[in-house]
Amino acid sequence: MPHYKIAIVGAGPSGYFAAQALQNSVTENLTFEIDMIERLPTPWGLVRSGVAPDHPKIKTVAKVFEKIAAEPGFRLFGNVELGKDISLADLTKKYDAVVMATGSSIGKKLGIPGEDLANSISAADFVPWYNGHPDFKDFKVDLTGKVAVVIGAGNVAMDCGRMLAVNPDELDETDTADHALEALHKSNIRKVFITGRRGAEFAAFTAPELRDLPKLEHTDVYISETAVALAYKNAEANGEIDKHLASNLEAMKAVTETPKKGHERSLEFLFSHTPKEILGKDKVEAIVYSTPEGDVTIPCDLVITGIGYVAESIDGVNFEKGKISNVDGRVEGSNIYAVGWAKRGPSGVIGTNKSDAAEVMQLLISDLKEAKNDGDITNLLKPDHKIVDQAYWVRINDAEVAAGEARGKPRVKAVSIPDLLRLGQP
Ligand SMILES: Cc1cc2nc3c(=O)[nH]c(=O)nc-3n(C[C@H](O)[C@H](O)[C@H](O)COP(=O)(O)OP(=O)(O)OC[C@H]3O[C@@H](n4cnc5c(N)ncnc54)[C@H](O)[C@@H]3O)c2cc1C
Repeated sequence: MPHYKIAIVGAGPSGYFAAQALQNSVTENLTFEIDMIERLPTPWGLVRSGVAPDHPKIKTVAKVFEKIAAEPGFRLFGNVELGKDISLADLTKKYDAVVMATGSSIGKKLGIPGEDLANSISAADFVPWYNGHPDFKDFKVDLTGKVAVVIGAGNVAMDCGRMLAVNPDELDETDTADHALEALHKSNIRKVFITGRRGAEFAAFTAPELRDLPKLEHTDVYISETAVALAYKNAEANGEIDKHLASNLEAMKAVTETPKKGHERSLEFLFSHTPKEILGKDKVEAIVYSTPEGDVTIPCDLVITGIGYVAESIDGVNFEKGKISNVDGRVEGSNIYAVGWAKRGPSGVIGTNKSDAAEVMQLLISDLKEAKNDGDITNLLKPDHKIVDQAYWVRINDAEVAAGEARGKPRVKAVSIPDLLRLGQP
């Protein structure tokens, strides 16, 4: 009976959904052993380090990941980085197929003057900082000013804007990293703008996130009625408004109709604002936009760019336009496959990765030939390398959750690799 060994690199949603698709394809004549390799001691990818702390329901998908991990034949190799601890050449030799589920983590740049001024930062640094990603625990953001501008019209920009605009007391019961919570409590930011280059009809926000905005307890949210009316007009002129756009515009209209309460904190959306230049002597002082009405300058103290991501390169595989070069997930001429954001670029919600990974795994299965059965990767790692296997991770998870229970939170995250490794120590 053919028994294949598959390496999945990256323990984010797409990696788990790829594993699940393989598990679902097991028959009497086809079985798999799956080794999931993850550079951090913690799995779950952006479900842990991307999804906003005030959206805990979304993170419950991790229960599905843990079920997948508990299936026979699945092994976690956490704290093992491809390209550093192990090479892609080693993996392609050892395994029948290698699935790259490494995501897309570097923030895209605007390419405008002033972008490199102090306190002009990327969402790709700010988000993992507030979410306790070990690589960003020492990241510095200056929150002493009053006005922040977030550039981008997608959910990542909205998360950044909301995290800055809410009363930090609202985050006390979330799993926001302690260092970020402390900084947000001290923050002087009271006015946050989220700006999109094009009209509201092109915004990539999703309706559930927009619908949550009027529910903010201590923040007034502004979207201009004119911008929404113009978006309806432009969208209608282009033909029938599709379902997705209709719910977005409806949710934006609801924001315009929500009475403002005169809160000290505000979150304002500006559309048709194309960033032109960031001004400042030593640090950010203002941003200039070109708009249909001419140039507009907004004085501000912090600029966060949330306009998308590109993938970090990894030795042994070609990247093109910020993602792994692939055709429908297959890396031509190899036994390497790509799924998730590494395959498609940074688009789609968590669920998008499920159907996508399932399709790629069907392709992988159809390509399988004679099984290699060439041992595992343990002997390729240094003898003293601390591998975080599933049992080790479960101990880390249990310790974080227990620390959270004591403080009325879902978990308290350990934010350095040594602390994480200590937490899970047998
Ligand atoms: C800020 C933000 C908020 C989001 N919020 C939501 C939301 O609320 N709802 C929703 O549905 N979707 C949300 N998304 C989208 C969702 O997170 C993605 O669709 C999903 O995480 C993509 O999964 P992935 O597995 O491709 O990548 P990732 O989740 O990024 O996982 C990649 C994994 O690979 C690991 N890795 C990378 N390089 C290596 C290497 N060399 N060796 C070993 N391991 C490696 C990484 O550490 C990581 O664990 C959000 C995304 C962002 C950025």
